[in-house]
Parts: sequence; C-alpha cells; structure tokens
Amino acid sequence: MAAENDFVKDITKKSVDFSAWYVDVIKKAELADYSPMKGMMVIRPYGYEIWELIRDQLDRMFKESGHRNAYFPLFIPESLLKKEAEHVEGFAPEVAWVTVGGGEVLEERLAVRPTSEAIICSMYSKWVKSWRDLPLLYNQWANVVRWEKVTRLFLRTTEFLWQEGHTVHATAEEAEEETLRMLATYRRLAEDYLAIPVVTGLKSDSEKFAGAVRTYAIEMLMPDGKALQAGTSHNLGQNFAKAFNIRYESKEQKLEYAWQTSWGATTRLIGALIMTHGDDSGLILPPRVAPIQAVIVPISAGNWQETVLPHAKKILNELKAAGLRVHLDDRDSYTPGWKYADWEMRGVPVRVEIGPKDIEKQQVVLVSRLDRKKSFVPWNGLAAELGSLLEHIQAELYRRAKAFHDENTRPAATYDELSEAMAGSRGLIKSGWCGGRDCEAKVKAGTAATIRVILDQPDATLGKCAVCGQKASHTVLFAKSY
Ligand SMILES: [Zn+2]
Repeated sequence: MAAENDFVKDITKKSVDFSAWYVDVIKKAELADYSPMKGMMVIRPYGYEIWELIRDQLDRMFKESGHRNAYFPLFIPESLLKKEAEHVEGFAPEVAWVTVGGGEVLEERLAVRPTSEAIICSMYSKWVKSWRDLPLLYNQWANVVRWEKVTRLFLRTTEFLWQEGHTVHATAEEAEEETLRMLATYRRLAEDYLAIPVVTGLKSDSEKFAGAVRTYAIEMLMPDGKALQAGTSHNLGQNFAKAFNIRYESKEQKLEYAWQTSWGATTRLIGALIMTHGDDSGLILPPRVAPIQAVIVPISAGNWQETVLPHAKKILNELKAAGLRVHLDDRDSYTPGWKYADWEMRGVPVRVEIGPKDIEKQQVVLVSRLDRKKSFVPWNGLAAELGSLLEHIQAELYRRAKAFHDENTRPAATYDELSEAMAGSRGLIKSGWCGGRDCEAKVKAGTAATIRVILDQPDATLGKCAVCGQKASHTVLFAKSY
C-alpha cells in the first residue's frame, strides 16, 4: 500500500479542503487545465471523453422526443440582441464584442453569443409561416461566451460548451408541455446517468432567464452544502415571438404570434460529477459516463509479457466485444501498485487484476472503486459479471448521493433558523415564502442564500414566510449556490 499512499499525497484530501481537492483532482486526472486566457479552460481528452458520453446520451434523448440538431452563427449583430429588451439587459454585462474584422472597424459591432435566442429567432421569423410548420423542435450543440469575473474549472468559465434547444409552438399549452418535458429529460440524465439526485422547480422572478416568462431548473446539492444549477428550461411565452415577429397562420387563417421555449445544459455537469462522487483517493466516475469502465492490470512478475499478457489481451477483446469500455494497462515502466493508485485517482469504476495464479485457476480479480472490495470471477461469464458489478456501482453511487441530498434538505421556519443553517452546514433549506421580492432580497443580503427553486408541492407545516411572518404563498428551497 506504500505506493498508493505516495501517490495520493499529491491530492489534497476532500475532507480537509474541498476546493483545493477539486482543482487537484481535475489537474491530476488530466480532465482540464488553465489556458493562457484568464477564465478560459482547456478540456483535455479524458475530460472531453466524459463530455462526449454525456452529450451522446442527451442527444439520443432529444432525438427520441423529436428534436433535430442545427447550427447557427457564433456572432450576433448588436441590433438583433437588442430586440428583446429584458434579454439584452440581462446579458449585457457579460457580452464580449467584436468591433474590428479584416482590419476594418465594423459598422455594427457583433456580440459573441452568450446564448442564441436572438440569432435563432431572427431565422425562425423567416421559416415559420403556417401552423403546418409547427412545432419546430431544434437543438444546437455549441460553445458560448459569458465574460465572468470569477471563474472555476468546469463550474463557471468564460467560454463553455453546451446544448441549447429552441422550439416554436402553436399554443401556450404546448410550449409549457415542452418546457416541462425537457426539464424531465435533464432530471433523467442527472439521476439515471450521472447518479446525482436533483430537485426540480420554478425559479423566482429575480432568478429567471432574461426574457423568459417562466424558468424551471434542476438543482443538485454538492458535498460542501452548496447548490449547483445543472440545467434550465425556459418557457419564453410570446416575448421573443413579438420582438422578432414570429407569426404563423392558424387553421382558422388568422395570423398569430408563436409560443417558444429554450433549454440548456453545459459542461458544468462534469464539475457536478467530480464533486458529488469523488473521495480522498480522487475521482469516482459513474459507470454509465466513465470513458473507461474497467482497467485490466496484469501482474508484472517474471516474464509476464509472455505468460500473463496474452491472457490479459484475450480478456480485453472479449470484454470489448461485449460492449464494455475497457482499457489494458500494459505499461512496463510502472509497478502494479502504482497503476492501481493511478486508475483509482482517475475514477475508473472497476480494476481487473490478472496474475500467474489467476491464470492457473482461469479467473480474474475484480476490485470495486467504491470500497476496494475484491471478487474472484471465472473467465467464463466474466463480461456478464463485470456488467452487473458496474450496474451495482452505478446504483450505489446514486444511493449515496441521494442519502446525502435528503439528509441535508431541512426546514427552517424563521429567518434566524435559515441564517443559522447558512452559517453552519448549509444544505437545501426549505422555507415558506410570501412571494415578496423584499423578503427574497433580505435573505440574499443577510445570508448569501438565494431561492433555488419554488417547489411544486407546498409544505403545509411551513405556512408563514420565514422572513416577514405573513402567509406563505410558496414553499421554496434556499441555498448558497455555485
Ligand atoms: Zn415575506
């Protein structure tokens, strides 16, 4: 175990300094690195492979519900961005502008897209003519730029990768249905693939998307007691349709403004994965989004390259053929102990050990990243055994995260209780709220907590606003957030 200890000392312990641990793990596991441009990060291949798995899964879900991908330009003329007043006001402070092109000062400056409603709506006004054109269900995979003052790898960077869905509907009901459908899609991705429980709900007016009628979000609770907004779905109503003149002829041959939605999820999800599941030894990746689900480490004793390696290669090919993402670590320059610690740090869910004794017995040793529990498994039927161990790890990671989420979702009936919770272990604090902006602002100013979501189901035991004591119109979750 000496090698392992030597190795892990390079990473700050998660229990000692969470923020330092987070950065150490990202850099050591080669997920991402800082770039020469302040606030902008480089996603390295191992981090990008995680993104590809998340992206591919989301993309499948979007397509199953009838959405199609398209691509729109990176630049947005200022006049277009200004068309929807609330939208431009909300985004203005973080927009980067292009003022010179081809050596000449541009007549109109161009925004580097902070989000694409403006450019997409300008096209929709050309494409939408009749009720027969609706619904229009498009998604774009892209990068966006928001000039951030304080940045953190994956969680908040000036440029990030995301998808943005933009849909057009004939009725308000259809737009609301779509908004909720995509919120449910994000919940499914988070819970079934990332193994992270979420709470969903409506945003308060002060937290909603600039230009939306209603914003819904999925929120996750991180181990340091702070909430992470991990996906948003906006009902835009007719705000953009009116600003951009998106009208269609109805079946009754009347000209009507269309109803719209937009929704997005970003590379921030990778930050959520790292924080939620990792431990003192490094990353732990849920098998469904792990680029390497199992790593085969041959025991390098004697002339192992002739005795052990051929068997390891045969097992590799069989597992790959079964559709599992498996890597064989046949490097000669490291000891097995060093390799164990290295792959543990990179969060690979299962290690497959094979040595001369295992070959005699026609077995391998499977070691779970969760608890280093070993199981001896015969070659015959190995793929099925490994598959079920991976499913077990996936479920166990969710169970752990859910237990933490539930334990740290607590009620606070008064401002003092709320304030005490925020000064202590934080968490998602459930309170009554009268709906007043002043009460919301007072909590933010006094405790740095904001309303993360308004819950669908009001809690009858929290009948009064925690701040002013008046009758509560909503039950909300307050939290400090990333
Ligand atoms: Zn109040």
